[in-house]
Amino acid sequence: MVHRPAAGQREKRGVNGEDVRLLRTIAGGIVQLGEIASPGAFSLPYPADAQRALDQVALACLLRGEPPPHSLPDLITWCAQRPVRDWPLRLPPDQAAPGDRLLDPHTRTPTQLCYEWALRVPDTGTELYERQVMLGAISLCRGASAPESYTAFRRLVIERPVLTRGELALLHGEPDLQPVLDLIREQYRPAPAASAIDGSFAACSRCRCLLVPAGADGWWCEQDRCRREGPARPGTRHRADQEVLQLARPLRIFVTGPGRAEVDLEHRLAALGLTVEMWPGFDAYDLRVHLPDGRVWAIDVKDRASPALLGMDAAPLPAAPPHDAAFLVIPQYRFRDRPDYREVFSHHCPPDAAQALTLCTDRELGRRARRITEEARRA
Ligand SMILES: [Zn+2]
Repeated sequence: MVHRPAAGQREKRGVNGEDVRLLRTIAGGIVQLGEIASPGAFSLPYPADAQRALDQVALACLLRGEPPPHSLPDLITWCAQRPVRDWPLRLPPDQAAPGDRLLDPHTRTPTQLCYEWALRVPDTGTELYERQVMLGAISLCRGASAPESYTAFRRLVIERPVLTRGELALLHGEPDLQPVLDLIREQYRPAPAASAIDGSFAACSRCRCLLVPAGADGWWCEQDRCRREGPARPGTRHRADQEVLQLARPLRIFVTGPGRAEVDLEHRLAALGLTVEMWPGFDAYDLRVHLPDGRVWAIDVKDRASPALLGMDAAPLPAAPPHDAAFLVIPQYRFRDRPDYREVFSHHCPPDAAQALTLCTDRELGRRARRITEEARRA
């Protein structure tokens, strides 16, 4: 399901206080800076969110007798070097894992955790942007009475985050994409020249997004999931003179990255011989799985770094298209990173969602589905 941040009333549960609000403001400011074309070249006046973040961090530091960051470049260094848990803020201990930072220390781009916190700032452009695009696609496809067009759009965003200008032109021949062609054209932007080495771009062999050159380390992938799986492995290369385009960053972070987990689960279940509908009912949820005994599972896949924020946002899945059981599936690696994932999620999850949803990893769900299909075969 498209990430829909929870309404404000949820924020009263479990998490509150000035310092949590400050963390949100900082994350929002950092994300806003990330959207500036050349973040090395800050000049006064700073963007409003970033200035607000800087002022508030400086104040918090002064009140606690800690040296404050003096400028935006200072704040950036802070966010890249200091894990959130080591900041002079009194945050609930389950809000960040040890070592979690707001900026990637190597690429200095916002981490997924930073985006997740930034989404809780009601006025950041990023939240609106990613939601507007996906809700825009839903409305165009609904208007054309074409749920298969929404599925095709979503699959394109997940499976092809990088296109050459020529490949983009070829999409005009795809019947399912007709209602969303203008939207697609808007979302693919020229890849930044700084991402090329020796005249070519490299796509990540895992998520297919463009890798970022990282000096002596070779390449870096911006997706949490890929970085957890070891050093970046360059896959497809694109010559810079081919007019290489990539999706806008909020879509890459919130649709392409998490989408890998959605399509991986689709492949795992399809390999068991199960029929799987993707993003049915214009994205009511992510997967609708038909079991051999006639039962239907509804699944939302959430590749989220923060179990606390995920718990606060959790809500029962829509009743239509109908299903017999509902699951919230988290990629296994998130549980490796946060062994307390389940507990922290449960602590923050509202009772109605806890009752309606089963939280499990992709592996647990795969095993459950395998058991059911094997039993059906024996029967
Ligand atoms: Zn990757």
